[in-house]
Amino acid sequence: MSAGDDALDVVVVGAGFAGLYALHRFRTQGLAVRVFESAPELGGTWYFNRYPGARCDVESVDYSYSFSDEIQQEWTWTEKYAAQSEILAYLTWVADKLDLRRDISFNTRVTAAVLDETTLRWSVTTEEGQTVTARFVVMATGALSAAVTPAFDGLELFRGELYHTAHWPHGGVDFTGKRVAVIGTGSSGIQSIPIIAEQAEHLTVFQRTPNYSIPAGNTSLTAEQVAEVKSTYAERRRASMRSGGGSPYVGTTRLTMDVSPEERRAAFEERWQLGGVLFSKTFPDQLTNSEANDEARSFWVEKIRAVIDDPEVAELLIPNDHPIGTKRICTDSNYFQTFNRPNVSLISVRRTPITSIDGTGINTSDAHVDLDAIVFATGFDALTGSLGKIDIVGRAGERLRDDWSAGPRSYLGLGDDGFPNLFVVTGPGAPAVLANMVLHAESHVDWIAEAIAYLDAHGYAGIEATPEAVENWLAELNQRAANTLFPKANSWYLGANIPGKPRVFMLFIGGFGAYNDICAQVAADGYRGFELIKEP
Ligand code: FAD
Ligand code: NAP
Repeated sequence: MSAGDDALDVVVVGAGFAGLYALHRFRTQGLAVRVFESAPELGGTWYFNRYPGARCDVESVDYSYSFSDEIQQEWTWTEKYAAQSEILAYLTWVADKLDLRRDISFNTRVTAAVLDETTLRWSVTTEEGQTVTARFVVMATGALSAAVTPAFDGLELFRGELYHTAHWPHGGVDFTGKRVAVIGTGSSGIQSIPIIAEQAEHLTVFQRTPNYSIPAGNTSLTAEQVAEVKSTYAERRRASMRSGGGSPYVGTTRLTMDVSPEERRAAFEERWQLGGVLFSKTFPDQLTNSEANDEARSFWVEKIRAVIDDPEVAELLIPNDHPIGTKRICTDSNYFQTFNRPNVSLISVRRTPITSIDGTGINTSDAHVDLDAIVFATGFDALTGSLGKIDIVGRAGERLRDDWSAGPRSYLGLGDDGFPNLFVVTGPGAPAVLANMVLHAESHVDWIAEAIAYLDAHGYAGIEATPEAVENWLAELNQRAANTLFPKANSWYLGANIPGKPRVFMLFIGGFGAYNDICAQVAADGYRGFELIKEP
């Protein structure tokens, strides 16, 4: 514990995009801040996910901090979708430029945060047994930071190499001459499979649910493109903050079936050529109207069938159990074409489930696959996983874990009743993973910083969501989700990937710009729905 840690204003947990900005923002406001980060280095997602092909799926020029024009003018992205190493280099550069490291404790896992109701201070304890107290705790622990390896029977017997995409070795892995399995075909699997296939002697992909993916269309950025973005950054950022998903692209306002088949096709084609995740927002009703969604899906199916040689393999790779876009749409470079390679096989574990793993490979219900390495691309206990590992104890000894046993509770995704002065950044109850998470982290941290400034200026000791505000917000989240096609998919948005996790749609689906407006209005109304506490 460094000198002065007993007089902290804010403890921030996590040093990814969100925690780093929080440190800078709070420090600029004159607050005493300490960041605890369990990893040996900063970067969060971009420190851990070093698998081959890892890159962002929101354009780099948008998936970057907007709070400092100096930073966005000085840094130059080299690719439309930056690779993990470039994003990590960017975060390291920002941290050095802002001299952030001196207030970050690395290799320090927070295990508990306990409220003292008599002082309204939080005691934050680390794995090593250090305890500091602070007026505020900001959880920047990441929506996708608790990686999951399914408990396959016999996993511990395997004598080959085991990897998880979210804990990739720093020196990289050479699969040359090896028989490799990838389990999982979400974004991480879909990005890594084409590259692993180029190296491995043989790659077997174990697919549970086929996924929709759109060609990323990644390219190097030219000097002209960079100059154009830099000269229009202010407008680009304004449009992103107002948008549905945190990028500056505006879709048509016309509904899918209100345009002619030719216009519809042209609109889909235009988004296809743009590349990436925005395909699912070609028309505004694509995720609310089944007929509209079917149109987008048919376009997608036709494109994908055209690049897969074997019709039986195509049948396995084309999803038919959920509408397009209701799980996070993936972006790829030659994913579907990879299954045309002679050294790649596809096993549907829906047809032939994995029964066990043994010393030499994976057993399915009808075969044994000999392997030298297994890669788990099996995802995360999303949104609540990292928070759930911390023993968070609020008023009257109530644990956040228990309060959330039927699903996460919050008002605006920012605060929960019974847990005053505890904030969560880009967690459940907010758009979170449905938006560009860098800009979202900035908007959340700005809101929290302004709330703290307001409390300080008006002599308040604390801020706490009221139970009514939490209940109303949950009802609003549910109602908005029920009006969409999202509940039709067994997605991690609903916790469906984790056995036993309550099935609740955890996100605000009304769009990033609309959400920012709601948060701003709440603040303008004197923090409507929050109780401002004078004395502990
Ligand atoms: P993280 O980067 O996850 O950082 C959280 C930090 O908290 C971690 O460093 C973790 O070690 C630390 N931590 C957690 N618990 C504790 C604890 N108890 N004690 C101490 N430290 C703790 N989003 C997009 O918008 N666009 C993209 O293109 C995109 N691509 C992605 C690609 C991959 C491979 C993945 C996995 C996610 C991607 N995301 C993307 C989502 C991504 O997680 C966010 O964009 C963003 O990086 C999250 O930043 P964060 O700071 O909120 O969380
Ligand atoms: P994911 O989307 O949850 O995918 C995990 C995959 O593993 C799914 O195919 C899942 O199948 C499968 N799986 C899980 N448990 C299994 C089991 N027991 N047996 C067989 N298969 C199993 O995780 P992810 O790919 O790591 O991506 C998570 C999120 O991170 C993304 O949605 C995205 O938000 C972000 N991300 C973004 C990028 C990017 O392009 N920038 C890259 C990586 C990650 P089911 O579908 O049947 O559950």
